[in-house]
Amino acid sequence: MSGIYIHIPFCRKNCSYCDFYFSLNKKHEPDFFNALRTELALRKNELQNELIETIYLGGGTPSYASLEQLERVFYWIYTSLPVAPHAEITLEANPEDLNPAVLEKWKSLGINRLSIGVQSFEDKYLQLLNRSHTSKKVFEGLSYARRAGFENISIDLIYGIPGMDLTEWEKQIDYFLDLSIPHLSGYALTVEKGTLLHHQVKKGIIRMPEDEIFEEMFFLLIDKLEKAGYSHYEISNWAKPGMESKHNRSYWLGKKYAGFGPSAHSYDGLTIRKWNKPNLHQYIKNITEGNPWYETEKLSEKDRFNELIMTRLRTDVGVDNKHIKLKFPAYYDFFKQTATKLLHENKLIYENDFWRIPRHAKFITDGIIEEFFVV
Ligand code: SF4
Repeated sequence: MSGIYIHIPFCRKNCSYCDFYFSLNKKHEPDFFNALRTELALRKNELQNELIETIYLGGGTPSYASLEQLERVFYWIYTSLPVAPHAEITLEANPEDLNPAVLEKWKSLGINRLSIGVQSFEDKYLQLLNRSHTSKKVFEGLSYARRAGFENISIDLIYGIPGMDLTEWEKQIDYFLDLSIPHLSGYALTVEKGTLLHHQVKKGIIRMPEDEIFEEMFFLLIDKLEKAGYSHYEISNWAKPGMESKHNRSYWLGKKYAGFGPSAHSYDGLTIRKWNKPNLHQYIKNITEGNPWYETEKLSEKDRFNELIMTRLRTDVGVDNKHIKLKFPAYYDFFKQTATKLLHENKLIYENDFWRIPRHAKFITDGIIEEFFVV
């Protein structure tokens, strides 16, 4: 078992770029947590025979959840499931929720890793993204987290925010480096349909930067973090040695995981994928009334091939040539031909039987992956 993912969907504000499943209506929190515990209990058998090595509370904003409710969930987990003694237990937190009392409580629940949604160290960008925190809260919150003894900390930063130039982005990276935080998730701002940002861009209220700016920012991030001793272990993730996210790493390596809460996905590590419908009311209602709250899909060989290429080429592990030959013989010739073509185009490297994307081609990772897609 790789781990458990729990989706806690409540947020204070709708960040302008966000297309995750979330709800601004916290009055449903008690019903949600009752339904969540029921789901955990109903699916207990899926989780009992293997040691749980990682638990990840994502959202939404899990740090916004009431302590009493979190305490009840953890009590259920620890008393019902085989959790490994040194399991990685991550909580996604927003800076405005970090204070000494709450951090102590999270520690006492066994939470040992924080993934903090900083996004930017500058108020003007935080406002543009409609975040609910200020830069003051970021610095304050990070220092509280450190003082409470959290060492395994990751932050998210966004680049390509309208109005941000390369010098300003460098300043953001320097803030991160000065804080000596061991893990970074760095994302390009993307305009997803249905978001406030999409509306603003469509109406001409906001103009997104050109592609070249994104590329320059991405390579500046790679350069600076590499020099500072971080490994670029996944296209959007950097870590100091030994500080990679075990939970996310196992998604990318195709291990088994179980997701709970609205919109959460599960995978049996072989062929079955399951996902909970992204609707809080239906989730609560269906679970309470004993109706199905999820959908299931059996992955075909083609789906598994596409997924493997997509996840592995995004990581520093790369694609194992022998594995493709052995597990996907029907696609091996196509794979080898495509990989060889990309090797000649300087878009792939081949070392010790593994195919990887070289540093200079990482900005076009999605395009490279597409070449392998079997439709
Ligand atoms: S806090 Fe996170 S999940 Fe909630 S709206 Fe903002 S980005 Fe989305």
